[in-house]
Amino acid sequence: MKASAFVYPWDVNGDPDAPGWIARLGVEQVTLAAAYHSTRALTPRHPRHRIVTAEHAAVLYPPDGRWAGRPLRPHPAGDWAPGDAWGEAAAAPAGAGLEVHTWVVLAHNSRLGAEHPDTSVVNAYGDRYPWAPCIAQPATRAYLTGLAAEAAVRPGARGTELESLGWYGLAQLHAHDKTAGVGLGDVGQYLMSLCFCPACRAGYGEEGLDADEPASAVRAALEPLWRGAILEPLWRGAARDGGWSGVEKLLGETRANATRAWRDRVARSLQQEAVAAVRAAAPDGFQVLLHADPVSYHCGANAGVDPAHILSVADGVVVPCTGGAGLLTPFAQQRRAGAVLAAHLTVVAGLGGRPAALAADAARARDLGATELRLYHAGLASDADLEAVREAPAGR
Ligand SMILES: [Zn+2]
Repeated sequence: MKASAFVYPWDVNGDPDAPGWIARLGVEQVTLAAAYHSTRALTPRHPRHRIVTAEHAAVLYPPDGRWAGRPLRPHPAGDWAPGDAWGEAAAAPAGAGLEVHTWVVLAHNSRLGAEHPDTSVVNAYGDRYPWAPCIAQPATRAYLTGLAAEAAVRPGARGTELESLGWYGLAQLHAHDKTAGVGLGDVGQYLMSLCFCPACRAGYGEEGLDADEPASAVRAALEPLWRGAILEPLWRGAARDGGWSGVEKLLGETRANATRAWRDRVARSLQQEAVAAVRAAAPDGFQVLLHADPVSYHCGANAGVDPAHILSVADGVVVPCTGGAGLLTPFAQQRRAGAVLAAHLTVVAGLGGRPAALAADAARARDLGATELRLYHAGLASDADLEAVREAPAGR
């Protein structure tokens, strides 16, 4: 199977050996970050540095004139990726014969939330989530589609992987995270991720709900979870419907389905518009993939999608498969000819990955429909992790 390794520009720039250690992994492609959220990253092989701190969400290239006069705009990186860091980093692997694709993080941006508080998701209690832009708001959508087009189509890129192109919610590490005290499960995560900004209140109204009533209903629905209720019976249908029956039981079927209808509609149209914007800016044959979760009400970096819809819009999906490849099945069941179904496998042992089991995990993913592999993450991995990847049999 064709494989690609994720890297950041700071893994490559300033390290003349980088194209070599990447190519020795046996990959055909690198997926190189072009727009990325804040992070603190290890660079264990770099000749000059070990810890890179990306202080805010940034584009890793100089943004162009399209943003002039627009309040919502991407920021260039600071010294962690100065100038055209993406372009500089892309040249070396391309010279070594590797395809280079962009990696673009979209609706996850704490700096946007800090500078423009009105753009953030607001939960049922009125708490604002500055890391999560509300994708129902027109200005935010225009920003995201513009960013997708600019960051995806960098000179020399043959394709892109769009991450966080959908709803973000509670489930995301933020700052020094202290939110794990009560296990919320998929149901609690959904309820805590519902947005009550003015655009979303109006949206729930369009779906037939009283604009003020859902927030109090959501707070009431969450109360047993905060009190540690054992909700085992709610999960019995989880395997069949991704846990949705639990949301219906706690929130009531009508309210649950109205909120989901609004959110699905918003996410689908954003995904469609962003992919169209990328295609309009890209050369022929440019590949567009989404990091995706086949359960449309899920939030996060792997955006919840409708598998049939997304495979009619994008060229394929990248699906989290570390620890099990079952999320591929709803995409494989579409039997869409030519669709890319890439299995995302963490190969950094220190981040919960299984580099030594790569060949077995890849074979399992292929059995469930994977057509390609994504190896997360060549820059963050130890030498021992990379050695295990290299030793995984060819044809993995
Ligand atoms: Zn909203």
